[in-house]
Amino acid sequence: MKKGICILGATGSIGVSTLDVVARHAHLYKVIALTANTNIDTLYAQCLAHHPEYVVIVDETKVQAFKDKLKNSPVPDIKVLSGAHALEHVATLDNVDSVMAAIVGAAGLLPSLAAAKAGKTVLLANKEALVMSGDIFMQAIADSGAQLLPIDSEHNAIFQCMPAGYKTGVRAKQARRILLTASGGPFREMPLEQMPHVTPAQAVAHPNWDMGKKISVDSATMMNKGLEMIEACLLFNMTPDQIQVVIHPQSVIHSMVDYVDGTVLAQMGNPDMRVPIAHSLAWPERFESGVEPLNIFEVRRMDFQEPNLERFPCLRLAYEAINAGGIMPTVLNAANEIAVDAFLNERVRFTDIPVIIERCMQQFEVKPADSLEIILDVDKQARNLSNKIIDELIG
Ligand code: NAD
Ligand code: MG
Repeated sequence: MKKGICILGATGSIGVSTLDVVARHAHLYKVIALTANTNIDTLYAQCLAHHPEYVVIVDETKVQAFKDKLKNSPVPDIKVLSGAHALEHVATLDNVDSVMAAIVGAAGLLPSLAAAKAGKTVLLANKEALVMSGDIFMQAIADSGAQLLPIDSEHNAIFQCMPAGYKTGVRAKQARRILLTASGGPFREMPLEQMPHVTPAQAVAHPNWDMGKKISVDSATMMNKGLEMIEACLLFNMTPDQIQVVIHPQSVIHSMVDYVDGTVLAQMGNPDMRVPIAHSLAWPERFESGVEPLNIFEVRRMDFQEPNLERFPCLRLAYEAINAGGIMPTVLNAANEIAVDAFLNERVRFTDIPVIIERCMQQFEVKPADSLEIILDVDKQARNLSNKIIDELIG
């Protein structure tokens, strides 16, 4: 029997890599649903190649043009749905076994959560959904008995270094620390006085990974590592002080687990997201991902440094948010999404990103994030507030 798969965010960097791996193992998978926000050209090409039963196009203005194109195509029977609610519908279809959660940002929360509640195997790339909803997401997984497999390369590496039979959300008692590796991004060594003049084009040009724009900027500010530190606390049930961020510019080791007996397990490989994607798709087996074998002789050396929180205030803010707890990670994530968007649109400077986030966080009192309603409400408030802060900043 083929496994049914739904890919939320099929047209993005992770979505495209997922379909690349799926195509290598077409006898194992049936693509049930693909979703896109606006990119109907890529979605159309994916329909021709993978013939899903459903597509969802969130941007309603693009739907008619897509339907017209499909009508005269070799795959006219594909059902086209639109709007954000349709994402939840396709993520919970009976014939879907696995859901790749690869929408960027908070927009992915509701469909990923719906998949978790429906007991699907959730392949989680969309770290923002987990960071903003925290315990609610992990509780949904525990309640439904769903399997949650991390796609983020670091978390996938940690998962692979966990004891046999490990299940996400559980505290592995013999593991005392996680060493969360980070490349340090493109500005690891840039003189601090040049940082305010960084352009969006410079920020999205990551030295080791080819990714969507938002996560590329997050990598440059190191908010990505901050979000990942919070993600690691949730996925592996650890406290922030048990997660040590390690700058490792070569991106060969994707993270490590330090055990009580002094053993440190690391997962290595070429920096290509098809490795964690193939791992999670095949889990608990393994199969080919299409990625070149690691040439250890070309690696030559591996460096490890402590992160500099002065250079990367976003990482400090992420520690402050998780230590404060409650709604603060939701605020951090929302303010970051707005600030990054403003930077990409050249409304604010690179170094304004942490300023906006910090000012936004200062406006909130910590309170428990114990319902989805509270989370969605705080997310909205933090976005509005961040936009106001940006208006004030740029006068
Ligand atoms: P991307 O920008 O390349 O793609 C984003 C996808 O989300 C697209 O398919 C887009 O259509 C969809 N989307 C965007 N806004 C939407 C909305 N409002 N509603 C519905 N769909 C929407 O991003 P990406 O690099 O593929 O990253 C996706 C997620 O995976 C992010 O959360 C990112 O942090 C995470 N991730 C990515 C990588 C990577 O290498 N790219 C690595 C680790 C984790
Ligand atoms: Mg990562």
